[in-house]
Amino acid sequence: MYDLIIIGSGPAGLSAAVYGKRAGFEVLVVEKNPMSGGQVLNTYEVDNYLGLPGINGFDLGMKFREHADDMGVIFENAEVTGVTDAGKYKVVTVTDGNEKKTYETKTVILATGASHAMLQVPGEERLKGKGVSYCATCDGAFFKDGTTAVVGGGDVAVEDAVFLARFCKKVYLIHRRDSLRAAKALQEKLFQCPNVEIIWNSVVEEICGQEQVENIRIQNQKEGKQEILPVDGVFIAVGLRPNTETFRELASCDEQGYLIAGEDCSTDTPGVFAIGDVRTKKVRQIVTAVADGANVMASVEKYVNFL
Ligand code: NAP
Repeated sequence: MYDLIIIGSGPAGLSAAVYGKRAGFEVLVVEKNPMSGGQVLNTYEVDNYLGLPGINGFDLGMKFREHADDMGVIFENAEVTGVTDAGKYKVVTVTDGNEKKTYETKTVILATGASHAMLQVPGEERLKGKGVSYCATCDGAFFKDGTTAVVGGGDVAVEDAVFLARFCKKVYLIHRRDSLRAAKALQEKLFQCPNVEIIWNSVVEEICGQEQVENIRIQNQKEGKQEILPVDGVFIAVGLRPNTETFRELASCDEQGYLIAGEDCSTDTPGVFAIGDVRTKKVRQIVTAVADGANVMASVEKYVNFL
C-alpha cells in the first residue's frame, strides 16, 4: 500500500512528489505522457519563474523531473482509468495499453492539469495536423517563412505569436475583443514585433483548405465585415479545459469541470486532493502549481496522521 499516489507529472505533481518524499512518504507518480513536465515543456521561454529568468520551458521541466528522481520518487508511465474510494484507502486502476494494474494507496493527489480548448469551427477538426495546431513550439518550425494566424488573446496566444514572429514572414493575432488578456510584459514584447498584425474584435468562422490549411474566414464582430486571410497555419490558443473526465464521480467539480479545492488542496472526498491547473483557483502559473505541491503535503500529512 502506497502512502501517496500522484496522478500527473507537471510542475504541481512533481513538486508534490518532492515534498512527499521529504515528508517520508512512499510516493508513486503515474504519468500518462512519456515525458514529465506538463504544459511547461511546450513553452519556448519562461520569464516569470523566480530565479530562472528566460529559461527554456523544456529545460525547466527536465530540472523538475531530475529533482524528483534525486529524491527517489517512483514513476510509472501509464494511464489512470479509475480511482475508487474505499474509505481508509483508495484503489487506483492504471493501464499501459496492454496490461491493467491496480494499486492501493492511503491518499491520491490529482495533478492532471488542463488541455487546450478547441475553437469548434468548421475545418478545425479536419485540418488538425495539416496546418491547424495547438502548440506553436511543437509545430511552429513547419511554417518557417510562411504566414500564420494565432487565435486568442491570453498569455499563450501572445507567447505563441511572439515565438512564431521569429521565423514566420507574417503572423496575424486574431482576438475577439479590443484588448488582450495577456500579461502586460508579454503584450509589450508582442507590440515590438514588426511582422505581427493584430486583428481586433474578430473571430475565425471557418478554416479552409483541401489537403492543408489555405485560408481562414474571419468576421469583424463590430462591423459585421467578413474577410478571407490566406495563411499556411493556424495556432489555436483559446484557453484550457481541465483533465477531470475520469474523476467526476470521485470528487466535486465546478461548472467548468475544475476540481473544487481551496489552498489546502482538499477535495470533498477525504484522502483525495487536487493541485495545479486542475483545481479551482484564480491564477494558473507554474509558480502557483509548484506552491500547491507544498500546500497539499501539509493536508496529506494531517490526513494520514489521523487515519
Ligand atoms: P486564457 O488566459 O483563458 O485566454 C484564452 C483566450 O482565448 C482569451 O483571450 C479569450 O478571449 C480567448 N477565447 C476563448 N474562447 C474563445 C473563442 N471561442 N473564440 C475566440 N477567442 C476565444 O488561456 P491561455 O492563454 O491558454 O492561458 C491559460 C492559463 O495559463 C492562464 O491562467 C494563463 O495566465 C496561464 N499561462 C501563463 C503564462 C505565463 O505566465 N507566462 C504562460 C502561459 C499560460 P477573452 O479574453 O475575450 O476571454
